[in-house]
Amino acid sequence: MCGIVGYVGEKNCIPILINGLKRLEYRGYDSAGIGFFSLGSTHVIKSKGKVSLLEEKLNSHVYESHLGIGHTRWATHGVPNEVNAHPHFNSNNNLLIIHNGIIENYQTLKTSLKNMGYSFISETDSEVIAHLIDSFLKKGNELLKSVRLALSEVEGTYGLAVIYEKEPDKIIAARKGSPLVLGIGEGENFIASDVSAILAHTNQVVYMEDGEIVEVFKDKFITRTIHDEEIQKEVHEISLSLDEIDKGGYSHFMLKEIIEQPDSVTNSMRGRLLLDDGNAKLGGLDNVLERLSNCKRIIISACGTSWHAGLVGEYMFEQYAHIPTEVEYASEFRYRSPIIYPDDAIFFISQSGETADTLAAMKEAKTKGALALGICNVVGSSIARESMSGVYTHAGPEIGVASTKAFTSQLVVLALITLLLARKRGMKLDEGKCIAEHLSKIPEQITKILELNSQIEFIASEFQDAKNFLYLGRGFNFPVALEGALKLKEISYIHAEGYPAAEMKHGPIALIDENMPAVFIAPKDSTYDKIISNIQEVKARKGRIIAIASESDSEIDHLVDYTIKIPDTTSMLMPLLTVIPLQLLAYHIAVKKGLNVDQPRNLAKSVTVE
Ligand code: GLU
Repeated sequence: MCGIVGYVGEKNCIPILINGLKRLEYRGYDSAGIGFFSLGSTHVIKSKGKVSLLEEKLNSHVYESHLGIGHTRWATHGVPNEVNAHPHFNSNNNLLIIHNGIIENYQTLKTSLKNMGYSFISETDSEVIAHLIDSFLKKGNELLKSVRLALSEVEGTYGLAVIYEKEPDKIIAARKGSPLVLGIGEGENFIASDVSAILAHTNQVVYMEDGEIVEVFKDKFITRTIHDEEIQKEVHEISLSLDEIDKGGYSHFMLKEIIEQPDSVTNSMRGRLLLDDGNAKLGGLDNVLERLSNCKRIIISACGTSWHAGLVGEYMFEQYAHIPTEVEYASEFRYRSPIIYPDDAIFFISQSGETADTLAAMKEAKTKGALALGICNVVGSSIARESMSGVYTHAGPEIGVASTKAFTSQLVVLALITLLLARKRGMKLDEGKCIAEHLSKIPEQITKILELNSQIEFIASEFQDAKNFLYLGRGFNFPVALEGALKLKEISYIHAEGYPAAEMKHGPIALIDENMPAVFIAPKDSTYDKIISNIQEVKARKGRIIAIASESDSEIDHLVDYTIKIPDTTSMLMPLLTVIPLQLLAYHIAVKKGLNVDQPRNLAKSVTVE
């Protein structure tokens, strides 16, 4: 999920690797490391935290090396620390791997490697790759074949690079589901997860595709499929400058993270969604599943955007798993002496896993004997450590202060938990399959919505001077109305309120005139007719309306000023789609107002104070 860089050539690779890793810093990471050959042996230097700390460690040594690999890690398995940082050695300390991605069957592989006598140093999933390759080397295979054979046993995703002391003139790299490019130089070659890491040295690149593997020497590279068929790859010339590709080519992290959502939600469900069984597999909940599925009540406690995800979770759990559910602001929950029973299960949701109020609420719940579960994005964070069990969202690092991809990943995880509980509590196979099927289509549907970016940018330009906004939705889309309003407040500083659409007539309708735009989230679902009446009420008072509507709905165009059309899905998954245009709308309005989208005033990414 994070960064890879590698070099083979005449120059000293150490500064090249360090500078490459620095160029990858924009992606976010928790630790970094490099590995290289020098004076006939293999060296590894790793550090928790920033690349600059790694650099400081290197300053105390003078190394000269002509082949090496570097990695920035965003932990998915095992806490962020020096031991878990990459590269990882094989047991003879003569082979190194760096890996981006997730090895889904690492537990099975680890058990069989342990039975073969291998011992593991780290908690990562990645370390199995080093030992697995080693097991094939031991059978007399060369490195390339050993890597190929190892990868044929691996399930999951990887951008992988391997170096081996006994074949010291090459890097082997392979890709499946995690990006990888080669950089072609004069008497030197590079690998990277992203061109920004190597663009200072060359603009000639080869994009590797899934299922491809490459041997990279200083003066040539040989590409093959994982099944050993040689393939010719096209060399592309990159015309971007280094400045342009900072933040991966996007003008802001927030935009990058919005656009990444087809991938981030895929990562959240990867290896967890069982299409044929209409079910979900969540290893983190295995040990508490009985207690969880028999609980009398679920409470979801969170703050901000995570609280909105929790509200969607409430609707999901009640409607499909038939478990009474309540959602609580963590800050209120911890101080209002809540009544908590031992047969309550409480989910605490936090992107960073460090949100102070949520963490304190979790501690309170634990002392009262409830089942305290975490849903967070950052592996090894305080909430992850304090919780009795939980699920990681695997959205990858989120840097923009206004949460986007972390929210949709939280929704995916809540949908997976819903499936798991509902199926255990009597949901029929067919219904489970139908939800699973719809969930699997969400990434491509998000891609389709992202294609509306310029239309949404145009709408943003029409509304950038508004002083207030109302966001209205019903059912599963009521929390989306809250989230849409929060995004706008956070980054554009425009006052915005989210309401359940039917509440409008109990007060907010008094505010409506031609200066109060309203955003209606109005896909064709069971509340559609009612929301159309609400739209007419606003129109009758000259309110300007933007509607998020179903592709199949042509009537709504006559009732509102602007429509943004989205694909259909089952109602519980609708928020995963309806929120995307609202993220883009808030983003474009803020950009048009010339504001600092990634670091809005007064806000912090992770709220570690009360
Ligand atoms: N799954 C691996 C780990 O936790 C790689 C993470 C990454 O892509 O940075 O170490």
